[in-house]
Amino acid sequence: MDDVRLAGPHTRIIHGGQQEDPHTGAVSTPIYQSSTFAFTDADEGAARFGGAPGCKYTRLGNPTVAALERNVALLEYGCGALGAASGMAAINTVYLALLGQGAHVVVTDCVYGPSRTVLETEYARFGVEATFVDSSHSDNVARALRPNTSLVFVESPANPTLKLTDIARCADIAHGAGALLAVDNTFASPYLQNPLQLGADVVVHSMTKFINGHTDVVAGMIVARDEEVLERLRAVHVNFGGTMDPHQAWLVLRGIKTLGLRMERAQANARALAYFLQRHAAVQWVNYPGLVDHPQHDLMRQQMRGPGAIVTFGVRGGLEAGRRVINGVRLATLAVSLGGIETLIEHPASMTHAGVPAQERLKAGITDDLVRIAVGCEDYDDLEHDLGQALEAASPEMAART
Ligand SMILES: *Cc1c(COP(=O)(O)O)cnc(C)c1O
Repeated sequence: MDDVRLAGPHTRIIHGGQQEDPHTGAVSTPIYQSSTFAFTDADEGAARFGGAPGCKYTRLGNPTVAALERNVALLEYGCGALGAASGMAAINTVYLALLGQGAHVVVTDCVYGPSRTVLETEYARFGVEATFVDSSHSDNVARALRPNTSLVFVESPANPTLKLTDIARCADIAHGAGALLAVDNTFASPYLQNPLQLGADVVVHSMTKFINGHTDVVAGMIVARDEEVLERLRAVHVNFGGTMDPHQAWLVLRGIKTLGLRMERAQANARALAYFLQRHAAVQWVNYPGLVDHPQHDLMRQQMRGPGAIVTFGVRGGLEAGRRVINGVRLATLAVSLGGIETLIEHPASMTHAGVPAQERLKAGITDDLVRIAVGCEDYDDLEHDLGQALEAASPEMAART
């Protein structure tokens, strides 16, 4: 294939940025498990530190990590990418590089818990101001801008409310104020959404989730649209030190190859499960961007290629009934995280978002009865059966009826 960038989505995932190992022809990228790399002579060492291509030291770049960076950069239509030790390392590099003393950042109120907490507890100590807004209404983002706003950071779909933010609109708003737009694209994965194509400047991923997909690695990635921003991020990233390990990169390279296949199947399961929950007498409400009654169903169709694999719902009987459902499932695993091949179920108010004050949590739409299910790749009938039996056992009204 002449240009893999023009190929179909699965081909791009499998071949993007990949080549046989130049030394051995190995088809699977080898794990270059070396912290440092020898130079043939003093001139070569000096040249590499002067910017010539070639390896120097693994924190500054590693061939296995680079293979994954090329792949994700291509999938996100970026000019380059930076592998990170975790999603939070990626997010902190973005904050560190694009915020300074006295700077202001506008953030989606229902972002991943630590993405918010770290701003409130750590960056605040250095004079960074953060405003958290419901970015599903772009006007809220525009209203929050200040003369010192240098970054708008949105998560779409957001965790765990599944609210969508209009990325193209937010890019215009941010750029109009001289700020950059960064998007946490973890929930969608590059298979379903490409924020840089919608005008964002930076994309971050927790590759722990859909990209790796096998619940066995914690990892992150930053992708930039243009070289200038990429180099600003790189300079901070390698000194901050939250860089990626070659073994970690190899595992993610292995996992990402099936991203499209996993996403299609998990999404099909999620869609069917959302309909099942919607019809179930023990369920109070269901939230899934693939349902036509989702308030942003049209925006989903506009900026995403599918609604993803996360469903949230509330059980009749509220928090207590919800806890009984979580305790009653036998196939789904009670655990935080998402995007793996196995279905996980959790209660955000007491688990992933427990660090957000109760009042703020409610304001962001994270109600106490909200149960989050990250749908995996099992057989659909088994998932429906499992959730069905847990719902029946959890709902006293249902039990009385049968
Ligand atoms: C998990 C997650 C993160 C943090 O990623 P880690 O790899 O756990 O550091 C950030 N954003 C979102 C949306 C996540 O789901």
